[in-house]
Amino acid sequence: MVIDLRSDTVTRPTAGMKEAMFAAPVGDDVFGEDPTVNALEEKLAGLFGMEAGLFCPSGTMTNQIAIRLHTRIQTEVICHQYSHIYLYEGGGIMANSLASVKLLTGDLGKITTAQIAESINPDDVHAPETTLVSLENTMNKGGGSIYTLDEIKPIHALCKEKGLKLHLDGARLFNALVETGESPADWGAHFDTISICLSKGLGCPIGSLLLGTKSDIKRARKVRKVFGGGMRQAGILAAAGIYALDHQIDRLKEDHARARALGEILRKQSFVTETLPVSTNIVIAKLVGITPEELLQKLAEKNIKAVKFGKDLVRFVTHHDFGDAELEEFGKQIGKM
Ligand SMILES: *Cc1c(COP(=O)(O)O)cnc(C)c1O
Repeated sequence: MVIDLRSDTVTRPTAGMKEAMFAAPVGDDVFGEDPTVNALEEKLAGLFGMEAGLFCPSGTMTNQIAIRLHTRIQTEVICHQYSHIYLYEGGGIMANSLASVKLLTGDLGKITTAQIAESINPDDVHAPETTLVSLENTMNKGGGSIYTLDEIKPIHALCKEKGLKLHLDGARLFNALVETGESPADWGAHFDTISICLSKGLGCPIGSLLLGTKSDIKRARKVRKVFGGGMRQAGILAAAGIYALDHQIDRLKEDHARARALGEILRKQSFVTETLPVSTNIVIAKLVGITPEELLQKLAEKNIKAVKFGKDLVRFVTHHDFGDAELEEFGKQIGKM
């Protein structure tokens, strides 16, 4: 048994999902004629109470399109220093949008209204114009930490007051929502654009959606084209997304329960000093007396995979293909180390 906890992207489509993919009616989506893509875009936008959606190959693309929509050359994005849009998207803020970025610090990868207010540039010849605030929920580098709607509301109000756009990298937003019980529509009401990944905990092979107003999504379609993301009979992939939204949201709670159990097992090991609080499906363990490379090597010998996540940090992510049997095996193997 191989236990792959490197990411929730390693999940494979289930039999039911594959059947839905095979059965999907398709057309040419660049002509706007793929009925399954259109259905997925309408379904997810509807769920969030937003006007329109755009199906893209990756969450990097949906985030980068959003940044392009909300910035121009010589403008600036405000985000946490650990944001995916900054750390893990290949310098795309600069490369795709010629924009600058202001990085904020904050516990568990989160930033506050007061910090943002202080970071908005003055109308001054020296400064890039601040046009966008980008948040991430759940926060990957924060150990899958959650923003609640109560934290978002004042940020949204500030952005409105200052004329800034607010984007959400919601790659794992459903992980947050199944924990808090908050409704997608309430989240949709507080952002200009939201990016959602289907290829993480929701278990699809490919795909992310960008949600926003009709006019923003119309512009986003053009940006997707120039990024090379216009796809043809993409309904085969979109069908997996529709299936996931219908069948695989609630089960994210199981991933969270197993992550909490995994965190407990890890905290009992002599080589772990602590984990970040486990809020969703991500466990970040802080090591002592062993380097991440050494631990990963030892784990690999037991057929367990994880990733280095900092100088003394290792990340474990639970997902659809990590069940109770895998959790038990993980405990057994770790006990032998
Ligand atoms: C995975 C992820 C993305 C998008 O990644 P892709 O691999 O390009 O789909 C964006 N933001 C966060 C927080 C992620 O975890």
